[in-house]
Amino acid sequence: MKIIAIGRNYIDHAKELNNPLPEKPIFFLKPETALLRNNKDFYYPDFSKEIHYEAEIVVRINRIGKYIEERFAHRYYDEVGIGIDFTARDLQKEHKLKGLPWEIAKAFDQSAPISPMVSLSQYKDIQDIDFSLSINGKEVQKGNTKDMIFNVNRIIEYVSRFVSLKIGDLIFTGTPAGVGEVKIGDRLEAFIEGKKMLDFNIK
Ligand code: ZN
Repeated sequence: MKIIAIGRNYIDHAKELNNPLPEKPIFFLKPETALLRNNKDFYYPDFSKEIHYEAEIVVRINRIGKYIEERFAHRYYDEVGIGIDFTARDLQKEHKLKGLPWEIAKAFDQSAPISPMVSLSQYKDIQDIDFSLSINGKEVQKGNTKDMIFNVNRIIEYVSRFVSLKIGDLIFTGTPAGVGEVKIGDRLEAFIEGKKMLDFNIK
């Protein structure tokens, strides 16, 4: 399986990083080794001094597909969860400046902590889901999927032109404003519609 992550998919987040708004979805990949499940501790890596959290709604692909049209894309996922797209912002800035790929800043081990995936049927609309992240009990990010620049079906249409989707692939759909650094000792708790889905510590 692979993780497909969307960059700059919420206007307020693109603005906070001084990035232009994208005309097409921007995506990058994380490998399976990035996953961190079951609320396991995240170990702060030695190659970065600026690890940022990005809380994101995640959907799980349940059918194989390529060249999926937007109007059929809803048939390709039926579970949702919340994940953190950990980003080594210092390395990302350095590599952006040099025009180099971002993998080093995005794809490292444990860079994708994720909640259990739950049935989408319990939510009214994939494009109207509230989610939030708290650090040490204080809310730092709060978003609703209706504010995505490119909705999930549009993302699937776009990405599947380039990359075949397979069962079990995960799509991280972008983060709202409020990203920032984590520190050793922090506790991260992520919520969907007020229900805690993810709870882990930075070691
Ligand atoms: Zn992200």
